Amino acid sequence: MSFLIPCPHCGERPQPEFAYGGNIGDDPPGTMLDPLSEDLYFNDNVAGEQFERWFHRFGCERWLVLRRDTRTNEIAESWDRVTAP
Ligand SMILES: [Zn+2]
Repeated sequence: MSFLIPCPHCGERPQPEFAYGGNIGDDPPGTMLDPLSEDLYFNDNVAGEQFERWFHRFGCERWLVLRRDTRTNEIAESWDRVTAP
């Protein structure tokens, strides 16, 4: 299912421009994820809001943090990874 992601640098862009980087869970939102980390492949299957990392691969090529509702794909907030709370 495609949806729009509000990139803090590029504005709203279609989801296929981005690569999913996993949910953040208990890590601080600004923490970078090891690409081989188990977190990327064994995410909690949350039904509701969660913080997630996304990479804008066909745009600004920067990491973002989103607060997304997995039931509706509604994105409540987005931050650059560097300025994420
Ligand atoms: Zn962007």
